[in-house]
Amino acid sequence: MKRRNFIKNASLTGVGIAVGSTLASCTKSSSGEKKTIIPTTKASLPLVIATWDVKNATTKAWKVINNGGNSIDAVEQGCMIEEANEKGQSVGKGGLPDRDGNVTLDACIMNKHGNCGSVVYLQNITHAVSVARKVMEDTPHVMLAGKGAEQFAVSIGLKRENLLTDASKKAWENWKVKSEYKPIINIENHDTIGILAIDKNGDISGACTTSGLAYKMAGRVGDSPIIGSGLFVDNEIGAAVATGLGEEVVKTVGSFLIVELMRQGKTPQEACEEAIRRIVSKPKSNYKNFQVGYIAVNKQGETGYYAIHKGFSMTKYQDGQNVNIPSNNYI
Ligand code: ASP
Repeated sequence: MKRRNFIKNASLTGVGIAVGSTLASCTKSSSGEKKTIIPTTKASLPLVIATWDVKNATTKAWKVINNGGNSIDAVEQGCMIEEANEKGQSVGKGGLPDRDGNVTLDACIMNKHGNCGSVVYLQNITHAVSVARKVMEDTPHVMLAGKGAEQFAVSIGLKRENLLTDASKKAWENWKVKSEYKPIINIENHDTIGILAIDKNGDISGACTTSGLAYKMAGRVGDSPIIGSGLFVDNEIGAAVATGLGEEVVKTVGSFLIVELMRQGKTPQEACEEAIRRIVSKPKSNYKNFQVGYIAVNKQGETGYYAIHKGFSMTKYQDGQNVNIPSNNYI
C-alpha cells in the first residue's frame, strides 16, 4: 500500500493479522466502542519495527541484525532504503518540497548509549539519517541545521544531489495552482519512516527520517529531528518513534513520554495509547483534522502502535517474519 494512499485502504484496519504474536488486548475508542488491538505482545528478540508499510526497509535492517550486526547499523541502513526510494514522496530523494519548491530533510538517530545526532533542514543530500549518525559519532554536537549540515555531509563524502524528482516537482506545481495550505489528516502531507531495532545482544537503537510536511512554510522543522519528540531510545527500557503532524508531537514530547510510561510499567501498547490520548484530550484539540501515529518497543521485545485515525500501520520483522499490520485508532 502506498503510504500516501493509506487512508483509502483503511478498511483493512481491524483485519486480524496475528503473525508472530499470541495475545490480543482490548481498548475503547472515543465513541466507547470496544476494539481489538491486533496482537503485538509476543516478546521475542531480535526484532525490527517500522512506521508504515516499509518491508524493504525492515528486511534490510533484519538482515543486518541476523548477520550479527548491531542495531544502530540496522536502523540506519533500513532508513537508507526509503531515503533512496524515489517513489516514496515523504523521505529523502523524491520527497515533496516546501511551498517554495525546496526539498528539506529532517532526521535523527539514537544509540544504545543514549547518544544521538540529528539534522534539520538539510538540502541536497539523500541520506539524512547517515549525516545524523555522523553528527552523533564524529562531532561534539547533537544537531546540525541547514547549510552547516549540508557542508558537514559533503565533508564526510556524501554527494550533493537534486532531491526534487520530476514527479515531486509536478505534484508541487499542481499544488501551487490551488495554492492553499491546509494539512488534512495524513492523506497528502506527511509520513516519516521511523525504525526501532533490538539486536542479538539485546541492544536497542532507533532512527527516523522525513522530508516533513509537504508544502510547509520555508524553514519549518517538525518533530523528527527533535530527540524526545520524534524519537527516543533508552536501552534499559525501550524506544518509541512518531509519524504524523510534528507540531502536535513536539507539544507533547511524545516519544520521550512513551518511554517514560514504559519505565513506569505500562506496556508499549498502553504507552502509545496514552501518548495519543494526551494529544486528543487537550481542551481545544483539533485532532479530527490531523494524524499522529506512534510505534514502540520495550526491552523484552514487546511492541505497541497506535494512531488518532485509521490507516496507520506498523511493519514488524520478528521470528523471521516480515509483516505489515494495520493499527487500531483512537477515533
Ligand atoms: N512528523 C513529520 C513532520 O511533522 C512528518 C510525518 O511524519 O508525516 O515533519
